[in-house]
Amino acid sequence: MEKYTRSKRGQAAATKCSGSKSKSKSKLKVEHASTAPSEAAGSQKSRNSNDTGVDTGSIALRVLECIVCFGPLLPPIYQCQNGHVACHPCYEKLRHICHTCESLLSYARNLALENVMESVMISCPHASFGCEETVAYIKQQEHAEKCTFAPFSCLFPDCNYAASFKELIIHATIKHHLLTRSFVDGSPFYEFLDFQSIFLIHHETNTCFLLRNSGEIASGRAFSVVSNRSCLRRTNWLYDLSLVDVLEFRLCDAPVEQLDNQSSSETILFVPQKYCTPLVDNLRICIRKIS
Ligand SMILES: [Zn+2]
Ligand SMILES: [Zn+2]
Ligand SMILES: [Zn+2]
Ligand SMILES: [Zn+2]
Repeated sequence: MEKYTRSKRGQAAATKCSGSKSKSKSKLKVEHASTAPSEAAGSQKSRNSNDTGVDTGSIALRVLECIVCFGPLLPPIYQCQNGHVACHPCYEKLRHICHTCESLLSYARNLALENVMESVMISCPHASFGCEETVAYIKQQEHAEKCTFAPFSCLFPDCNYAASFKELIIHATIKHHLLTRSFVDGSPFYEFLDFQSIFLIHHETNTCFLLRNSGEIASGRAFSVVSNRSCLRRTNWLYDLSLVDVLEFRLCDAPVEQLDNQSSSETILFVPQKYCTPLVDNLRICIRKIS
C-alpha cells in the first residue's frame, strides 16, 4: 500500500499563506510501506527511510488535479484511448471528447489511478491556521468545510483577507475602521442612526456580521445585517430591525444575507430622512440563531 503525506517544503509554502486566500502548490511525500520491516531495515535506511520504517519520495500536487478544470481528480476518473484523464464533471461537460487529443471514442474508467487517489493522505488545507489533521485527499473538501481552523474571510467582498476569528476582528477595526459591538443571541440592542457600518460579534459561536447603513443621507437610510459563508459556519441566523416608537419601520425575521452567495437576496429596512434623528440611539437590532 502506498501512503502520501505533505512534505515539509509544502508546509513551509502553506505557512506563508497565513492571512491570505492564496492556494499552496505544495508537493506530497510518497511513502512505500514495507511488508517486512525487520529484514529490509538496512536497505530502507539507504533509501531515505523515516522513523516509521517507510521509504519516502515526493510527487507534485498538480499531478493529482484534473487537467481540464484543475480541481481535485476525484473518482470516478475517466480516460481516453490515449491515456488522458479527466474528472467526472469534466467528462460530462466534454461530451466524451478528450480535452487533449480530441479522441471521439468513449472514455474508460482508470481504476488504477482511482485506487491511488483513494490512498493519498494530505495535511488539512488549513494547516497554516493550526489544524494538524491528516485527511484523505479525496475528502479534503469535506473536512475543510467543517474544520474548526478554517479561516474567516473579511466581510467586505472586495477584500481578500482571511484569518483567525481574533485576527479578523483586529483587521475590521484597523483596516476598515469599523466600530465593533458584541451581542447576545436573541437579546435586542440599540444604535444611533448615523453610523457607517458596525462589526457585530457573537463570541459564544465565533460568528460575525456587518450591520450596514447603505442609504443616501439626502433621501434616507437603508439598514441590513449581512455576513458570509466562512463567518456563518453553516448556521442560519435571522434578525429584526425596527425604529423605536415608529411602528411602520419594522423588519421581522429577515434572514442574514450571505454576501458570497449569489442566490441570497438582501432585505433592507429603509428609513426616510425625516425619521432619522442622528443623535438618538433609536435603531433596535435583534439577531438570533435558528436551531
Ligand atoms: Zn475536471
Ligand atoms: Zn486523449
Ligand atoms: Zn482541518
Ligand atoms: Zn478586509
